[in-house]
Amino acid sequence: MSDQYVVFGNPIGHSKSPLIHRLFAEQTGETLEYTTSLAPLDDFTAFAKAFFQHGRGANVTVPFKEQAFRLADKLTERAQRAGAVNTLIKQPDGSILGDNTDGAGLVRDLTVNHGVTLKGKRILVLGAGGAVRGALELLLAERPEVIVIANRTVEKAEQLAKEFSDLGLVFPSGFDWLEEPVDIIINATSASLSGELPPISSSLIQPGKTFCYDMMYGNEPTAFCRWAADHQAGQAVDGLGMLVEQAAEAFFQWRGVRPESAPVLAQLRRLLAQQ
Ligand code: NDP
Repeated sequence: MSDQYVVFGNPIGHSKSPLIHRLFAEQTGETLEYTTSLAPLDDFTAFAKAFFQHGRGANVTVPFKEQAFRLADKLTERAQRAGAVNTLIKQPDGSILGDNTDGAGLVRDLTVNHGVTLKGKRILVLGAGGAVRGALELLLAERPEVIVIANRTVEKAEQLAKEFSDLGLVFPSGFDWLEEPVDIIINATSASLSGELPPISSSLIQPGKTFCYDMMYGNEPTAFCRWAADHQAGQAVDGLGMLVEQAAEAFFQWRGVRPESAPVLAQLRRLLAQQ
């Protein structure tokens, strides 16, 4: 039997991870099976542990990333910082290592796929949920001038700013306190899921310059990307590349082989356009 991998989530039906990992496996010649796994909301831990009787690794998505963090026997430093796990890796001694590849995926998509330099930049992050928690350490490692975290519930932004302030300048904010243009805006709110926008001023965009990134993606431009384009942002891109890059990083952790993400991203983009 080939090595078994899954993505745990609830719901999980529309996950693109099985396709991404199948393409990575074909490309690298690795033999593995990767499927979706609908984990029960009330007993994730027992369910995941049963899988690891035979399974080699798993991705974890909404709403189980914090539970996966608690389930892991050991944690990578970046998972420890993030307080959330999106990748579980079975170790040779049978223990389970928890990792978080979301931040690495975001930074790689920004810097490699889109050629954005983060060093010395003023970055505004919208949202203060799990995705931001997973991304902050890696974003700060690129040495931006400052990161402002704006969130609907300001206390959550304050908490994150406090936790990460030893790594660089991080300030909390409400959405409507912000006016000055920034270099980069990253939308990590789930507002886009319902076609909504966080209530921020268009004065944050410097026409022709500000780079706008939505972690959300779809078969057409997201509400945030449309808003950015309407206000002449330098560029407005979605988070499909982050999805592929966090998967590539997980694949590397499991198999020790780094797949090439560009052709997989291109294929996914073509498939999305056909939907
Ligand atoms: P969480 O549920 O942990 O956090 C959601 C965040 O969105 C919170 O800050 C919440 O604010 C805010 N929010 C929700 N609704 C609204 C609204 N209507 N207006 C303003 N703010 C709102 O989600 P995640 O952090 O896990 O995910 C955030 C987004 O990132 C999702 O769209 C997800 O799909 C995407 N994502 C993409 C990935 C990729 O690979 N491309 C990877 C991970 C996430 P409050 O605290 O006030 O409730």
